[in-house]
Amino acid sequence: MFEYAPAPESRSVVEIASSYGLFIDGSFDGGKDGDVFKTVNPATEEVLAEVASAGPEDVDRAVAAARRAFGTWSALPGAERAKYLFRIARIIQERSRELAVLESLDNGKPIRESRDVDLPLVAAHFFYYAGWADKLGHAGFGPDPRPLGVAAQVIPWNFPLLMLAWKVAPALATGNTVVLKPAETTPLSALFFADVCRQAELPAGVVNIVTGAGDTGAYLVAHPDVDKVAFTGSTEVGREIARSVSGTGKRLTLELGGKAANIVFDDAPIDQAVEGIVNGIFFNQGHVCCAGSRLLVQESLFEPLMDSLKRRMATLRVGDPLDKNTDVGAINSAAQLTRIRELSEIGSVEGAERWSPECQLPDRGFWFAPTIFTGVTQAHRIAREEIFGPVLSVLTFRTPDEAVAKANNTPYGLSAGIWSEKGSRILAVADQLRAGVVWANTFNKFDPASPFGGYKESGYGREGGRHGLEAYLA
Ligand code: NAD
Repeated sequence: MFEYAPAPESRSVVEIASSYGLFIDGSFDGGKDGDVFKTVNPATEEVLAEVASAGPEDVDRAVAAARRAFGTWSALPGAERAKYLFRIARIIQERSRELAVLESLDNGKPIRESRDVDLPLVAAHFFYYAGWADKLGHAGFGPDPRPLGVAAQVIPWNFPLLMLAWKVAPALATGNTVVLKPAETTPLSALFFADVCRQAELPAGVVNIVTGAGDTGAYLVAHPDVDKVAFTGSTEVGREIARSVSGTGKRLTLELGGKAANIVFDDAPIDQAVEGIVNGIFFNQGHVCCAGSRLLVQESLFEPLMDSLKRRMATLRVGDPLDKNTDVGAINSAAQLTRIRELSEIGSVEGAERWSPECQLPDRGFWFAPTIFTGVTQAHRIAREEIFGPVLSVLTFRTPDEAVAKANNTPYGLSAGIWSEKGSRILAVADQLRAGVVWANTFNKFDPASPFGGYKESGYGREGGRHGLEAYLA
């Protein structure tokens, strides 16, 4: 096997201050409550910065600023709003190296992914929705669709800046104003985005960023002057939010967890399928709601596929997220690492067979080796629950009907993958899968023009594409 010399990206392209305030009404301030929390680099456990924790009074101020800004922002012609969005998209491109390094430092994801996937998609979302801002009358929602008002947006830590873009870009394009709360383990890129908004001279109050933990999020979504709630995160918190919002007249979209089936038929091109399986579960350390975490393999292909998969996994480089050779970075937090470890232990106890390639994990930081479980049955917890880590559960099937039945046997329904040479089989199977996105002979492909969202416990509403506009229009 090749030995790779270290190829670290320079950390000096980003300047991180020792502390950050809240971004309310166009400027940063320390927060009225005075509470702060620390955000750490999960690859080293080094504290990156102290960040203000927004209390009720701060959230009130942010919502009030968004409300004041709504009148003028929503009254701007779409072409004028588009100019701001185009400007934001271009500034993100110009600052993409800095933002990619920042994202890898705060999140733990490999620089190769933040640089080549997250940041290009973030810019693409702003470009895409900038293009819609002056064409809303042609989007299929009536001749003059109106914005909802103030949108409360709560996002997770797995794709901090990309989830921000998915939420902020369509909201602004349609004339809404925003109060966004990033996750407590990854607040920094949202705060840098606030600076991008200032650079773009976005009018004060159109975008407000309040940092803090779950209680800040709970207070924000329950705020009486919020018109729309958009949430991405766990199914458990999604349920709480649905309860808090019900009966209030607020519009709600929920993008929750998943346990996607990646189905490989015996006529699939093995090498491509192996790449798709690896991408499906080890991309972003498996912290992906649509990760292909359940591999369904046609029985006759099981042995050759497992041999190829193990050979490929042995070449994955786990380690320093800032090294350009790294394939698998750090687990985002100690809490998430504990959860991955616990569920993996349960997998072994319940009788599945665990395998990981030999790999040396760094001494400090939060790490988990890429892992597969074979001999998994549908009753096993590792086949039912979202692990949200680099852990693959492998099951087998004999017939297409059995594959469909097993794929759909989950409380979730966010995504699925099908690998086969036969187009008719792909279409027939895709038709029967209860999943918001079905990829064929590929996996984890994202595009701002394509809607994304779930069935059942994966949530409701769609983000992305023309469909994504609807969630922000009256
Ligand atoms: P989470 O749902 O606890 O947190 C997501 C966001 O919601 C964070 O910003 C958090 O501060 C906020 N939040 C927490 N409690 C809240 C409340 N009561 N009201 C409003 N906002 C609240 O998710 P997590 O702790 O980051 O991860 C836990 C699990 O969630 C993971 O193991 C995984 O299963 C799932 N998850 C899914 C996605 C996804 O993209 N679908 C993303 C992250 C996590």
